[in-house]
Parts: sequence; C-alpha cells; structure tokens
Amino acid sequence: MTSVIERLRGDGPKFSIEFFPPRDAADEAVLWKAIRELEPYDPAYMSITYGAGGSSRDGTIRSIARVATETTLVPMAHLTAVNHSVAELRNVIGWYASVGVRNILALRGDPPGDVYGDWIPHPEGLTYAEELVQLVRSLGDFCVGVSASTYGHPRSADLETDTKYLVRKLRAGADFAIAQLFHDAEDFLRLRDRVAATGCDVPVLPGVMPLTTMRTLQTTIKLSGAPAPRKLLDRLEPLADDPKAFRAAGIDVITELCEKLIAEGVPNLHFYTFNRSKATREVIARLGLVPARA
Ligand code: FAD
Repeated sequence: MTSVIERLRGDGPKFSIEFFPPRDAADEAVLWKAIRELEPYDPAYMSITYGAGGSSRDGTIRSIARVATETTLVPMAHLTAVNHSVAELRNVIGWYASVGVRNILALRGDPPGDVYGDWIPHPEGLTYAEELVQLVRSLGDFCVGVSASTYGHPRSADLETDTKYLVRKLRAGADFAIAQLFHDAEDFLRLRDRVAATGCDVPVLPGVMPLTTMRTLQTTIKLSGAPAPRKLLDRLEPLADDPKAFRAAGIDVITELCEKLIAEGVPNLHFYTFNRSKATREVIARLGLVPARA
C-alpha cells in the first residue's frame, strides 16, 4: 500500500481530500457520490475524520475499509485519543492495518461536547498527540500525520510554545502535518517558516475549504480560531443575500489563496470537502491540477 509521504514526495503540486464519517444511509450515499466524483482526479490521498463516539467511530472504520478495498485512492484514517485506553487505541490501529490502511492522522482530539472544556485523559489513555504518534510508530510500518494550528492551538499560551510542542510532535515520528484553516496565505507561510526555523523539515500542508455559502465562511472562521481579514469580509459579506454571486466570489477567493500558496512553493493543498465534491473539483480545475484521465 502506497504511503501518504511517498505520494507527497512526487513531482509538482498536488491536492488531498478530507471527509467525515456518515451518520446514516442517506449520508453514506452523499459521501460515496463525492468520493467517486473525486477519485478520477487522482488526489495524493483521501482521509476520513474520527468522531467522539461509537456510531461515528464505526462510520470511520467502515468507510475507510471500503475506500481501501473498493477504490484506487490512498486512504488515511484519523484517530484521536479521546475516551480511549491505550489497549483500545492499539485495537483500532491493528484494525486499520488489517484492512490495508497504513496511513494514520494521529490526534489528541477535543473533550466531547465542549471543545474548549478541560481535557481529561482516559485513565489508561494518552494526554498528547505526541504519545499517539509514538504508539502508532511502535506498532508497525505506518505513515503518520499530525495536525498543526496556523494561529497556534487555542490551548497554547503563545505561538512560541505552540511551535515548540508541534515540532516535538513532528520529531516524535510524524511524516507530515496538516494545518487548521486560515484565510490569508501569509498566515500559513508564517507557520511553515516557524517550523522550518527550528531546523525541522517535515512538510506542513495547508488546510483549505472552498467558501460556497455564508455558512461555510462562518464555519471556516470558527475552525481557524482567528478573525477573518477585513478585506475578505468586505468582498463576501455584501453578497450574503445573493447565493450565486457569493459562491462565485467564494470560489475565486479560495482559488487565489491556493495560487498564492503554490507560487510560494507549497507542494500539496489539503481540501476539507464537507463530503461534497463540486466546489473542490472547480478549484482543482482552475488551478490546473486535473490529470488528463479525469
Ligand atoms: P496536541 O498536539 O496534543 O496539542 C494539544 C495542546 O497541547 C496544544 O496546545 C499543544 O501545544 C499542547 N501540547 C502538545 N504536546 C504537549 C506536551 N508534550 N506538553 C505540554 N503541552 C503540549 N479532531 C477530531 O476529533 N477528529 C478528527 O478527525 C480531527 N481531524 C483533524 C484534522 C486536522 C487536519 C486538524 C488540523 C484538526 C483535526 N481535529 C480533529 C481537531 C484536533 O483534534 C484538535 O485541534 C485538538 O484540540 C488538538 O489535537 P492535537 O492532535 O493538535 O493535540
């Protein structure tokens, strides 16, 4: 099975795609429509997030197994330490391996229900993503990714501390990191430069989400953990009551953001798809990243 890092090391700019697990049969149909529509675009890899509870976790496990066995895509499963003992984490990792999933995004995760509430580790579990990286590495030949925060994790005291722990996590055995959302390419480039300045050469990929509605804009602002630039709001907010014009301008904004990243030598763009393919396909096409066979 090809690893994510092998795919990222190839020539030219590439993109990857992220989905979340389906909750029911209708969700599953939507997810698989998007997966099948993006498959011919030959993304570097695809990933499925890992939720806080039973049915959502089952959805990740079931879906990633199906991707590994029924598609040509390189699958990466997310895994969090939330509410898991080390024994349970070992089981999930072993299960991923048994269905041919050798790429894992190792995350600490957030307390269920209240992302900013107190983090309480499982009594027989792990406290930081760094420990999960070490656990996955100790269990076999896995390619391991981690998360990075463009503006610093909300729990970090400052950017310096945030960078220190991010680099520790990378040096614990991560092959690459994926950054949380941002709205200004410069902000991501500063994160990339902070990591590089420590002498760490692990690739950091930007997380990008096509802005198709006012709601997606609000979601990206919330997830990024930073206010949106005034320039962006001035461009999109006046279109709030004109969905068609908003979508067109939102796709322009994200295409321009990606163009700037590519021009700055960023080799892979990670798209949060929200289980839809159309907007991602549009941006990819405008960036000229569509392979001939698609
Ligand atoms: P950590 O790296 O452990 O960091 C958490 C905090 O602890 C930070 O403030 C960090 O600076 C600090 N810290 C780290 N190590 C140490 C140390 N050794 N000593 C002291 N302090 C330390 N969440 C999900 O629930 N499921 C998903 O599938 C999911 N996918 C994601 C995908 C991406 C690309 C991104 C960017 C985020 C994703 N998240 C997901 C969200 C993620 O779980 C949260 O950001 C969570 O709050 C932190 O997880 P982490 O792995 O970054 O934690």
